[in-house]
Amino acid sequence: AAKQKGRNTCCVFDQQMEQALHFRTGLESDLRRAIGSSQFQLHYQPQRDQAGRLIGVEALARWNSPFRGSVSPGIFIPVAEASGLILPLGHWVFEQACRQAVRWNRPGRRQPVVIAVNVSAVQVRQPDFVPCILDTLKATGADPCHLKLELTESAMVDDVQATIDKMLELKHHGLALSLDDFGTGYSSLSLLKKLPIDQLKIDQSFVRELLFAPSDVAIAKSVITLGDALGLEVIAEGVETREQQQFLAALGCTRYQGYLFGRPVPAEQFEGLD
Ligand code: C2E
Ligand code: MG
Ligand code: MG
Ligand code: MG
Repeated sequence: AAKQKGRNTCCVFDQQMEQALHFRTGLESDLRRAIGSSQFQLHYQPQRDQAGRLIGVEALARWNSPFRGSVSPGIFIPVAEASGLILPLGHWVFEQACRQAVRWNRPGRRQPVVIAVNVSAVQVRQPDFVPCILDTLKATGADPCHLKLELTESAMVDDVQATIDKMLELKHHGLALSLDDFGTGYSSLSLLKKLPIDQLKIDQSFVRELLFAPSDVAIAKSVITLGDALGLEVIAEGVETREQQQFLAALGCTRYQGYLFGRPVPAEQFEGLD
């Protein structure tokens, strides 16, 4: 009976594996066809300072599939990364963000609007990553000062020096760099010291339970202190309530992003740019 059971368990397992694989390959081929089409859109979420002033916007990819409805980036980004489709998708995202940066920074604006764009480690690893970024800036006429790239610690793992060189080159051209989801990866403090970044983003997982979890308070506080000590901007993401914002402010954080300050919306619906 045990043997029988074992065999059945194995069978169920196989079925699940097969379903998962089927889901992934199905998603992948839908994704392949969808990239660059009107199924994809960028939404923009405001980043604000303590006085509520706009200090930037983050571009977030949205996929509205005719077969699947709206698919979360949490689902399609990992599939895009595993399949290499993140390269055409990432290119499309950056190009759209550049076009939007041009529209939002027409001559005569008082405050520049800086758009932060998420960049996958897979993109950064490409030998032609930097030239691709620079080509897109040139082709769209966007000013590099109006763009910021959000990288994650996973982009720093393999060839650290090569990555740092790429980052330095981007900075040299005027782009700003942010380290997203900070504290959730594996990077060390000695690595952080070497990275030519402008900003640290406190991951939303530390903000979520800030009012209830002393360990999250300790982490948020350390990131803020570390950022100050290294001369980096610190921004908290996932700020949903006034209480969280006040708590972060008391810890010395002055920049925020989250539903409290505005949800991600299409460019046409973005308000308060003046
Ligand atoms: P992320 O870069 O850390 O982006 C922040 C995520 O938190 C976004 O989820 C945003 O909609 C969500 N968010 C913002 N404020 C709040 C809040 O107050 N509460 C909560 N619970 N969530 C909030 P989204 O849009 O689902 O994106 C998830 C992740 O997918 C992003 O995390 C980013 O890593 C990735 N992603 C999205 N767009 C792109 C893209 O164009 N390229 C790449 N490579 N990755 C992307
Ligand atoms: Mg981000
Ligand atoms: Mg993040
Ligand atoms: Mg995140």
